[in-house]
Amino acid sequence: MHEEIDHSAWRALTSSTAQLTDYHHRLLSLDDRVGAFLECDPHKGASLTCAQDHPLSGIPFAVKDNIALKDFSLTCGSKILQDFISPYSATAVNRLLECGAVPAGKVNLDEFGMGSDTTNSAYRRTINPWHADRVPGGSSGGSAAAVAAGMVPYALGSDTGGSVRQPANFCGVYGLKPTYGAVSRYGLVAYASSLETIGIIADTPELTQLVFDTIAGPDPKDQTSRSASDTAAPLRDGQVTIGVLSDTDGLDEEVRRGYREAVEGCRSLGWGIEQISLDALSYAVPAYYTIAAAEASANLARYTGIRYGQRSLTGADVQSMTRATREEGFGAEVKLRILLGTYVLRSGFQDQYYIRAQKLRTKIRGDLSALFSRVSLLMLPVFPTQAYPFGADALTPFQQKLADRYTVTANLAGVPALSFPTGNVSGLPLGVQFLAPEFAEHRLLEAAGAYRQIYRPQQAVHHLSLTEGV
Ligand code: GLN
Repeated sequence: MHEEIDHSAWRALTSSTAQLTDYHHRLLSLDDRVGAFLECDPHKGASLTCAQDHPLSGIPFAVKDNIALKDFSLTCGSKILQDFISPYSATAVNRLLECGAVPAGKVNLDEFGMGSDTTNSAYRRTINPWHADRVPGGSSGGSAAAVAAGMVPYALGSDTGGSVRQPANFCGVYGLKPTYGAVSRYGLVAYASSLETIGIIADTPELTQLVFDTIAGPDPKDQTSRSASDTAAPLRDGQVTIGVLSDTDGLDEEVRRGYREAVEGCRSLGWGIEQISLDALSYAVPAYYTIAAAEASANLARYTGIRYGQRSLTGADVQSMTRATREEGFGAEVKLRILLGTYVLRSGFQDQYYIRAQKLRTKIRGDLSALFSRVSLLMLPVFPTQAYPFGADALTPFQQKLADRYTVTANLAGVPALSFPTGNVSGLPLGVQFLAPEFAEHRLLEAAGAYRQIYRPQQAVHHLSLTEGV
């Protein structure tokens, strides 16, 4: 059911110094409008790669700026890491470089991955390539916009609570959040370590699978990385059952219609449909934000201004220097999470929030694993709205958090999920996500590949003619 991938056009762009220079100019010119890159330098990237006879060899990719790529920036979208250059590469990045893949540069994100539309970046605005007045989604907004605009065929992102799937959804491309531990987190700057994973945003399911196969696998540098204990069975024709939500309250009208159409799409592929209800959806958001903030408050304590990153020039002693560094270096959303995390972890009160959230997490894991004994895949919406506008009509930070309810469930349970495009209304992409049992990424990609018989996404670049004049 998988299609052949032909990447010869991409490979040609990196095949000589002259071609690379052309490609670099083309990227910069597109990026004037898209705003995806924080650092763009395919020449420097090409010099890092090892020549290999691998299908990814010579193919360019982009890396979210919270994932280490040696000799490139690693700002995490934060002022506190302005000018920080990474001395090493993440394991996932190294595995791509060893295959001869060419990093084109580092792409924009919400500060430390906290947010849903990439407007929490300290550096620049990234637009949605389908509509310049709309957000690209987040926090891996630069990764999704770069793929949707046709700048690179794939990009690495990170998904703590939806940050790969949600921007992929807003930008009409494929977004895979792997099983927790399937891809090494070595070199991913920590936000909420027990929830997050490096993920892939790509223009086809086949490429997503190829990149996943290349970067996955245990790594001695990440003790939580592991291989599949037993591999879930592949999808077998005539035996595929998709669990779908009977209750779609709270979704925007277009998104609800898109979800229903996707259910019909699955039915027309011959798959069985089972209506389910998922209690987890009503308590996943509070559990997620309690745990994510608690872990963030511990992980971000390393930014003291002492060993690396920015240092405030004010303050008479070490404590006041650190306080001033954090005051100047962190944005509002990051400060909010640190305060919230410190609050839920304070001594004597852990039972009230943190332990309760962990109990909910255990319950969610159990609910999902019970469901997967009945269905092969679960189909959920990704986000209650399509890509929303910048400015006054944007979702507030609180609305954004509530809107995470469909994505955080997979992170709390540690299971893989893939968001994929299923349509386009009013010039904006629509999509849904599949969730699968641990280590059943191949099921997700196979099903999304089959769904291309129903809907084949276009690239935003054709829609907006971003290539004009290049
Ligand atoms: N929107 C969620 C948050 O801000 C998810 C972010 C992510 O997956 N990195 O925490």
